Amino acid sequence: MKQIKRLKHAGTRIPLKFKVWMYFMLFILIVFSLLWLFQIFFLQTFYERMRINTASETMNKISEIYESGDKEKFYAAINKLSKDNDLCIEVLDRYGREVKSAHVIGDCLLHDKHSNIHPFVEWIDAEENNTIKQKKNNPRSGYDMLIYGCTLKNGSTVEGYLLINAVLVPVGATVDIIKRQLMIITVILIFMAFILSLYLAKRISAPIDSITKASEKLAKGDFNTKFDGRGYLEAKKLADTLTYAEKELSKVDTMQRDLIANVSHDLRTPLTMLKAYAEMIRDLSGDNPVKRNEHLEIIISETDRLALLVNDMLDLSKLESGKQKLSPAEFGITGKLNEIIDRFKGLSEKNGYNIHFAPDEEKTVFCDPVKIEQVIYNLINNAINYTGKDKQVFVRQINQPDGVLVEVEDTGDGIEEDKIKLIFDKYYRSENHKREVVGTGLGLSIVKAVLKMHNYDYGVRSTLGKGSTFWFKIGDVKK
Ligand code: ADP
Repeated sequence: MKQIKRLKHAGTRIPLKFKVWMYFMLFILIVFSLLWLFQIFFLQTFYERMRINTASETMNKISEIYESGDKEKFYAAINKLSKDNDLCIEVLDRYGREVKSAHVIGDCLLHDKHSNIHPFVEWIDAEENNTIKQKKNNPRSGYDMLIYGCTLKNGSTVEGYLLINAVLVPVGATVDIIKRQLMIITVILIFMAFILSLYLAKRISAPIDSITKASEKLAKGDFNTKFDGRGYLEAKKLADTLTYAEKELSKVDTMQRDLIANVSHDLRTPLTMLKAYAEMIRDLSGDNPVKRNEHLEIIISETDRLALLVNDMLDLSKLESGKQKLSPAEFGITGKLNEIIDRFKGLSEKNGYNIHFAPDEEKTVFCDPVKIEQVIYNLINNAINYTGKDKQVFVRQINQPDGVLVEVEDTGDGIEEDKIKLIFDKYYRSENHKREVVGTGLGLSIVKAVLKMHNYDYGVRSTLGKGSTFWFKIGDVKK
């Protein structure tokens, strides 16, 4: 918990809620600053630039149409462009006499001709490219005007002149109106943004807050915690992941408890026996050599059992920790199987067990001989433990194109379908097990761990009442 609270970076001290709200407000502020800047401060410049563009484009369009020679289209364009763009347009012939005019404002500078020849005509002639683009003040209205003019040509012959007057209305009054409107909009929108961002921030952080609270419960060991990630996809995914982690943690927790319970139970039984028989020797049978030997035998066999259990536990924990590496070597599998079966000979003779071995041709395999030996040993050991009254066990070696299949079959009661999944688990034992050979409940877990390390396939075929066949396949290693 202390670690959770120790926040390293300064940024991590600010709650998500506040951050979302802050970024949202910042965004709104930027939007409004831009709006104010462009609408209020640059409006005049924008407006002028727009008028200049319009005047210049209109001039180009009209002279182009003139050059195409379509007079009707030419006059129609003048009327339309003049009205649409609020421009006064005049067309003069080559001597400066008016041929066509379209006026939208009464007080334009094109009216200022005091002689027959329009003054602008002289200016156009004087320019190198025969075009004028000027800004002039109209002394009567006080407004600035854009005066644009050019020659109208047919090929290279000048046939007339085109004059355009665009008025530049001061935008001060408009700016005032916009300012007021903007002010109202700004206040309303900032208020709305404030409320909306608060709401949004709460919606985003709520699932995370709830998941955090639930995680704290999980951290304290409550494996029934529900993670609620409703709201949006990321929160849902986080909640699902935590639910999965919780399930896994709970499994590990149960396994750990079972393990401790099983281990302590398995250790306690032989220890109790050891103590009981040692006390019996001290108090009762110490002087009776026959009884004493009988009791000592029990003490020895219980000690063996304890040693076996502890060894198995150590083996398994080493295998599962991943610290143990395989030490593969080449060896003949038939020889190895014979060798292991021989080790059961004493037991077979004593208790009447019959181990039948059906070998295939000797084949060299490449794997960890010590660990594979343990697998085979455990499987035969189990087969003897669980085989039927006829006490028969069958071991088979079947060479296959890509490896060697080893099978160990018994004629016992078989294993129920739903138990097959469990028998390879640590400490799983059927209730009705009988023991002539000592078992620890770890044998198959060791088998599984070793075969998994080798990446070998393994499994069980079992028919209730008829027996089981445990198998694994030593694969060929491509070298
Ligand atoms: P142990 O034999 O010491 O109980 P194992 O891990 O070797 O532990 O086996 C786990 C369980 O699997 C056994 O308790 C038994 O129920 C079942 N089992 C193993 N081998 C056989 C078999 N050949 N036939 C029937 N059941 C078996």
